[in-house]
Amino acid sequence: MNFDELNLAPAIVQAVREQGYETPTPIQVEAIPAVLAGRDLLAGAQTGTGKTAAFTLPLLQRLSQADRARSQFGGIGIRALVLTPTRELAAQVEESVRTYGKHLPLTSAVIFGGVGMNPQINAMKKGVDILVATPGRLLDLHQQGHLDLSTVQVLVLDEADRMLDMGFIHDVKKVLALLPKAKQSLLFSATFSDEIRDLAGGLLHDPQHIQV
Ligand code: AMP
Repeated sequence: MNFDELNLAPAIVQAVREQGYETPTPIQVEAIPAVLAGRDLLAGAQTGTGKTAAFTLPLLQRLSQADRARSQFGGIGIRALVLTPTRELAAQVEESVRTYGKHLPLTSAVIFGGVGMNPQINAMKKGVDILVATPGRLLDLHQQGHLDLSTVQVLVLDEADRMLDMGFIHDVKKVLALLPKAKQSLLFSATFSDEIRDLAGGLLHDPQHIQV
């Protein structure tokens, strides 16, 4: 199997090649067709398996093939939201979005706590296609009226088990309640506790199960 066989746009395959990747990892082989087909996903995968590209590549493709959304602020509406437990992971994921999307006309931003809010507020006014965020700062910006989540079409919960371990379950549930019901949802977790299964059960519709 190589990246050409995964029905990814040439612009995406080229960006992957420029990273020096020749063959997709097992989770990429399974997840990419499912996400392209619009399926929800429940994926058991550790860091290092290539899970970030497994959701980023098909996400970029789906967004690049559809029209932009418009937010209530008049800027670009957020169509994809990736939630991560830590700012380090958020920054890494957004870096991957930029790398794999460098030949596509899509925009992204990352927001997390512990840094000033004003640059993030300004970024949200302009709007982005893809937002990567930690749950706490996302809620802060929303409560202050700087964030329109009504146009989100795809949600990714990355490292969901760490999100719960770090005590973010209530924040995550609050974020989920702010999102449109009709959307594609992808949940990635290294482990599966009852709490994760409950979360997945309430969020995912007929998900494809992947375990690597
Ligand atoms: P992740 O599991 O997303 O944290 O990715 C682990 C590492 O694997 C990252 O440094 C990626 O850049 C790299 N990677 C992702 N996909 C591939 C691939 N198909 N071939 C080789 N390396 C990859």
